Amino acid sequence: MENIDYDSLKRRGFLRQKQEGFFVVRLRKAYGNYASIDLENIKSIADQFGRGLVHATTRQGLEIPYIKYEDIALVEAKAKQTGLETGTSGPRLRTTTVCPGNNWCKSGLVNTFEFYQRIENELGIKCAMDLPHKFKIVISGCPNTCTRAQQSEIGLHGAVDLADPKKNIGWQVYLGGCGGKTPRLALKLEKIYNENEALRIIARVVKFFKDNAKPKQRLALLIEEVGRERFLKEVLE
Ligand code: SF4
Repeated sequence: MENIDYDSLKRRGFLRQKQEGFFVVRLRKAYGNYASIDLENIKSIADQFGRGLVHATTRQGLEIPYIKYEDIALVEAKAKQTGLETGTSGPRLRTTTVCPGNNWCKSGLVNTFEFYQRIENELGIKCAMDLPHKFKIVISGCPNTCTRAQQSEIGLHGAVDLADPKKNIGWQVYLGGCGGKTPRLALKLEKIYNENEALRIIARVVKFFKDNAKPKQRLALLIEEVGRERFLKEVLE
């Protein structure tokens, strides 16, 4: 197991297990929506290459443990052929977690799936994008914030703009939250933004992080280093 590029494997969604020679493959589908055929394909990979076990992650992924190193290329090819995507790890953007929003949740105010697509397609901000450290985006359809907007680098949820006489629906934005060893609650921005404004903020925050963070520095600690005022000025003006 020498001379293996573990970081490249991590980028592609294969994480080393504590058991020597075995890897977990992290599979994903946009918004955590798996069609029944996806589940059949995942079952088939787990049966053929793993030990028939699938673990549901907190970020809407499905992981198959006990993949042997020598089977990684076959698993990767099978995932690709069947339209399954792999997640990632290391200093990169994680898969964006998304609740159903108004697609079927009775409390949903906004279309979370469409917003996810706009982030990927219009901003090019996608899972596995290289960044100085891990970075998480979460989207919720209403202030119940089931995907925990306050605990991620960028958290968004649909909200009624109470300051607006027309009571339009827009996006509440939280920045700089994180869990882990240095947990921080995110900054809550004061106004409710329309969708295009929210997209602009996402693009600027990701760029600010990419340009300014040191390796292994979460956004929360970067904000503490540069100061909240300068950070907000750069990402909002
Ligand atoms: S955040 Fe709101 S819209 Fe999303 S699942 Fe929770 S209750 Fe439903």
